[in-house]
This record gives sequence, structure tokens and C-alpha cells, in this order.
Amino acid sequence: MIEIKDKADCCGCTACASVCAHGAITMKPDAMGFLYPVVDRSKCVDCGLCDKVCAFNDNYDTDLNLPKPDAYAARHKDMHEVETSRSGAAFIAMSDYVLENGGVVYGAGYTDHFRVVHKRATTREERDEFKGSKYVQSDMNTVFRQVKKDLKDGLIVMFSGTPCQTAGLNSYVGRRLREHLILVDIVCHGVPGPNLWRDYIAYLEKKQGDKICWVNFRDKQAFGWKAHRETFKFVNGGG
Ligand SMILES: Cc1cc2nc3c(=O)[nH]c(=O)nc-3n(C[C@H](O)[C@H](O)[C@H](O)COP(=O)(O)OP(=O)(O)OC[C@H]3O[C@@H](n4cnc5c(N)ncnc54)[C@H](O)[C@@H]3O)c2cc1C
Ligand code: SF4
Ligand code: SF4
Repeated sequence: MIEIKDKADCCGCTACASVCAHGAITMKPDAMGFLYPVVDRSKCVDCGLCDKVCAFNDNYDTDLNLPKPDAYAARHKDMHEVETSRSGAAFIAMSDYVLENGGVVYGAGYTDHFRVVHKRATTREERDEFKGSKYVQSDMNTVFRQVKKDLKDGLIVMFSGTPCQTAGLNSYVGRRLREHLILVDIVCHGVPGPNLWRDYIAYLEKKQGDKICWVNFRDKQAFGWKAHRETFKFVNGGG
């Protein structure tokens, strides 16, 4: 049974909660809003699956690792895509391919006034919400289970997230279903806490006396490639 003794040993990926067939694991936020698994011992049957699936487990399956990785650099041909993505818009090019082939794409979007969550997209319009880095831990909710269902239904699935999230999903999906799963992990230095982001939005809205209606964690069109500045628009035109 999973037990988080050191927070550094858990990224909140939800693989353990998703694999538990007894509904014994709930993801609960700490003071910063980071999600951690909590086990209801009365429901746990001690099967050990949650420990096994965790990518922080010493026996994590690394059979997909190449002995020597192949490295390529790429940038989208369409400069509009580059300008509206955080880096070179490789994510857009790859996800376009998946959507054109009838697949589904999972990535980080928003819900409930800019809370960052992972979502499923089957069209370019839905997928475009995932463009751009959101520098906050994304809530997976039940996405891992949805990915597995899509794979079982024979769909091509592309999942884009942080390296620890993709590692957790890879382990949860297992060898048998991996053939049609495309994992895209972003270069990542770590994720800030969701409550910091929530409180910052509340602070800005109080200061401005207005509601935020648009955010961009790094607006390349306004500030170029080098600046790392959040941009906000308010309902009544402030920004
Ligand atoms: C938390 C975080 C830390 C980063 N740290 C670095 C770094 O140290 N060095 C560096 O060079 N680049 C960093 N980046 C930038 C990132 O590597 C680029 O955005 C990435 O290379 C994709 O570029 P793109 O232009 O193809 O797509 P983009 O449009 O920039 O990115 C879109 C993709 O990022 C995913 N994504 C966005 N926010 C999140 C999130 N909160 N959690 C999970 N997935 C998310 C979306 O699902 C989508 O697939 C970071 C991004 C994030 C979100
Ligand atoms: S599977 Fe994911 S959420 Fe569960 S303990 Fe491991 S890292 Fe944390
Ligand atoms: S040991 Fe099995 S039953 Fe108990 S929490 Fe983990 S997966 Fe669920």
C-alpha cells in the first residue's frame, strides 16, 4: 500500500489512485495545493498494485528507454503556431498528425477560472487550449483511466505532460497497450503549487477590482522569446 513518507517521492501523477480497483486511494491537496495519494485502509486489500505502478518505485519498467537517445531539433513551419506556442510548436505539429489520423490528444488546459487540469481533445479547436506552458501542477483527475479506455477502444492516444506525469502514465498503461500511445514529455524544471496560482489570481483581481478573463504565462507576441512574464486581461479592458 502506497504511503508517502517523503513528499519528494511523489509527483501526484495519479497512477496509484487510477490502478486501485477498490477505490481506496483519493488524491488530496496539501497546503500548497499539490496532490498526494491518501489510502482509506478500510477499503485496501493489500494487493500492492499501487506500489508497483509508481514511477518512483525502484523496479520502474525502463524497457522503453533507448541505450543512446536519438535527438532531433524541430520548429513548426507556420510562424503563427510558433508565436502562440511556448517554444517551437512541436506539440502542435505532433498533435495535428494524431488528430488527422483519428486519434485523441491529452494535455494541460483550464477549468473553473484558470485552474490547470488535464483534458481530452478530439479536434484542433479543443487541442489549441493545451498550447502554451502553464507553470502550475496540472490536476489529472480521471484522465489516466480515460487514456486506458481510449487505448482499449483501439484509438491512437497522444499524451503530453511533465516527465513525471508521462512516466506514471506509461507505467499505469502497461506493456500490452503501449503500442498506440504516444508520450510527449516537456522539458520541465518543476511545477509551482496550484494554490499559489489561485491566490495570485485572487490578489490581482482584488487589486484591479475586476475579473480576469485571459491569461498567458509567457506572451511571446508581446514580450519576445526572452522575457518570462505573465500577461492578464480583465473583463472591463484592463491588462
Ligand atoms: C511546468 C513547466 C516547466 C518548464 N520548464 C522548462 C525548462 O526548465 N526549460 C525549458 O527549456 N522549457 C521549460 N518548459 C517549457 C516546455 O518545455 C515547452 O513548452 C515545451 O518544450 C513545449 O513546447 P511547444 O512549443 O512544442 O509547445 P507549448 O505550446 O509550449 O506547450 C504545450 C504543451 O505543454 C503541456 N503543458 C503545458 N503546461 C503544462 C503543465 N502545467 N503540466 C503538464 N503539461 C503542460 C501541454 O499539455 C501541451 O502539450 C516548461 C514548461 C512547463 C509547463
Ligand atoms: S503513482 Fe504517482 S501519485 Fe501515486 S505515489 Fe507514485 S508518484 Fe505519487
Ligand atoms: S494495495 Fe491495492 S487495494 Fe490497497 S490501496 Fe494499493 S492498489 Fe488499492
